[in-house]
Amino acid sequence: MTPDYQTILDEIRDEVQPLLAQGQVADYIPRLACVPWQKFGMAVVTLDGQLYRTGDADEAFSIQSISKVYTLTLALQSIGDKLWRRVGREPSGNAFNSLVQLELEHGLPRNPFINAGALVVADVVLGAMPDPRAQLLATVRRWADNPGVQDDPEVARSEQANGFRNAALANFIRSFGNLEQAIDEVLGFYFYQCSLAMSCEDLARGFLFLANRGYCRWTGDRILSPDQAKRINALMLTCGTYDAAGDFAYHVGIPAKSGVGGGIVAVIPERLAVAVWSPALNAKGNSLAGSAALERFTTKTGLSIF
Ligand code: GLU
Repeated sequence: MTPDYQTILDEIRDEVQPLLAQGQVADYIPRLACVPWQKFGMAVVTLDGQLYRTGDADEAFSIQSISKVYTLTLALQSIGDKLWRRVGREPSGNAFNSLVQLELEHGLPRNPFINAGALVVADVVLGAMPDPRAQLLATVRRWADNPGVQDDPEVARSEQANGFRNAALANFIRSFGNLEQAIDEVLGFYFYQCSLAMSCEDLARGFLFLANRGYCRWTGDRILSPDQAKRINALMLTCGTYDAAGDFAYHVGIPAKSGVGGGIVAVIPERLAVAVWSPALNAKGNSLAGSAALERFTTKTGLSIF
């Protein structure tokens, strides 16, 4: 029986209201610090293209690390499994921007969703595309079926001006020979991808291909092979929610990717994609109310991958 998604989303929106104020809005990128913590949106898109939504689901926010799934997809499209010579596939158990592990592991980032891994992925994308920013934006617009998706230059500038740790990571990786493009280019592209602004509706549409064996429902394109889509879902489950991925899998039970803008997008293969946004984060950097909302979603619908 198909769950009553609309009723479930509206119930969740009401239930999480007391949680919205409990987290902390990210402030290490100054531009993110002014986003109102009261916001909450959630959207579901099912395999047949039906959209269900509640709250601020149509409001664009900074997707931040969620963009790492898109650049990973582009890197796999361009160099396939060769990517894994330069990036690992293990959960890190460390903060997303940690330098320590990188030293111990000689510049080979643990996975594509920690910052070090995302910088290597950005390097691959830069090497594969003549105009990577324009191509990334055009691609995300197609996959999300929304030509109105924009980047936010203010967010990118704000991060660039404060991105000392990412600059350190990039230089460090370069010292091990695992970056090929100019460091400023890699960082500039990375900050650009993080500055994409999308709504929950955009993200639910834009991640449906991962629930749909790599096929884009909106364009009819095969974005990835079924095998590659399966593997990205596995990486999201094990590495997609910072060093809380084990706890997240335990409570929520589906592949997901979060960002410090307060968004989380998750996938139930063969069924749907679901996105949630609430800006205040828990101590691990995942949206506090967003995580609770997804836990309620899998409980109320009875859907999970387990
Ligand atoms: N642009 C952010 C950073 O590198 C991404 C953080 C995130 O969403 O995890 O610090």
